[in-house]
Amino acid sequence: MVYIAEENRYSDMPYRRCGNSGLKLPAISLGLWQNFGANKPLQDSRDMLLRAFDLGITHFDLANNYGPPAGSAEETFGSVYRSDLSPYRDELLISTKAGYYMFPGPYGEWGSRKYLLSSLDRSLNRMGLDYVDIFYHHRPDPDTPLEETMGALDQAVRSGKALYAGLSNYGPEDTLRAYDILKSLGTPMVIHQPSYSMINRWIENGLHDVLREQGVGSIAFCPLGRGQLTGKYIDKIEAESKSGNSSMKPEAIEPARIAAFRKLEDIAKRRGQSLAQLALAWTLREGGVTSALIGASRVSQIEENVKCLEQGPLSEEELREIDSVSAV
Ligand code: NDP
Repeated sequence: MVYIAEENRYSDMPYRRCGNSGLKLPAISLGLWQNFGANKPLQDSRDMLLRAFDLGITHFDLANNYGPPAGSAEETFGSVYRSDLSPYRDELLISTKAGYYMFPGPYGEWGSRKYLLSSLDRSLNRMGLDYVDIFYHHRPDPDTPLEETMGALDQAVRSGKALYAGLSNYGPEDTLRAYDILKSLGTPMVIHQPSYSMINRWIENGLHDVLREQGVGSIAFCPLGRGQLTGKYIDKIEAESKSGNSSMKPEAIEPARIAAFRKLEDIAKRRGQSLAQLALAWTLREGGVTSALIGASRVSQIEENVKCLEQGPLSEEELREIDSVSAV
């Protein structure tokens, strides 16, 4: 059946300015890391992508290595793009990345100009696109001069194969150095993609300040702690810890940790939200990140998650309570 996008797709989703740039991101973005590979039915991926777009999710995040196998998430996206989404290209914000292992030999990972630019060509080819909206360096490379890696991002933008440049997984000092190099080249760093959630607050120790001071936007990956902040593991963890027969890591089943998740669940209930919705609302709070980058394995999860801002902002009291159970 021919896909026609929902007419009211822009009525509910907030769009938030990405740092000082002209770009706006949806509050909720969808990542294709693990549930869109060749090992999953194409129809399920198509259903999630199209429902997400109908709900105002304009931003789809990919990387060369997403799958499994690596590369296949881009192929899946390319397939749905060709069959359904291509008429909406100008309404879509598509990102990809290079940095992690793709193939053996000296040119298949890290941060050389050789790897980054050939990887971008391969990504465009897999997705059937002329350009991506954001091209990221996926992780810092301790051995390649930062000038070379940033030069490759600059080249990607100048060649028209990417519209914006971003970094992922860089710490505060390297981010600042990269920011200065990109600025001197005339290609601004528009976005940073770090991990961030109520149970992973490392960016509050420096990176967050660097991004705010330089006017760089941010998109948080794993805002649901890879599913831990959805509540679905709490019962399982508790049962396993009581039985003394747990498949989880010892730190995951500490009573204090279980009690913390229960407390977060209580706060969510009081607000009339699910734990997942609370976790996302917290990530997007005043002073938080520009967009929360979720993963999903079914349409209903996306539908639940986009409603995370319906209950309004968290109060000072609620934020204090959350701080007391999820310390930095
Ligand atoms: P999340 O923390 O959002 O976890 C997503 C998982 O949580 C889903 O796969 C699903 O688990 C579960 N889930 C989501 N919503 C619900 C819900 N409402 N109820 C119950 N369970 C739910 O993030 P991910 O770890 O998946 O990462 C998100 C994206 O971030 C990736 O796709 C990728 O784009 C990006 N990323 C970037 C990295 C980087 O280095 N730059 C690294 C990792 C991720 P289940 O599948 O079990 O149903």
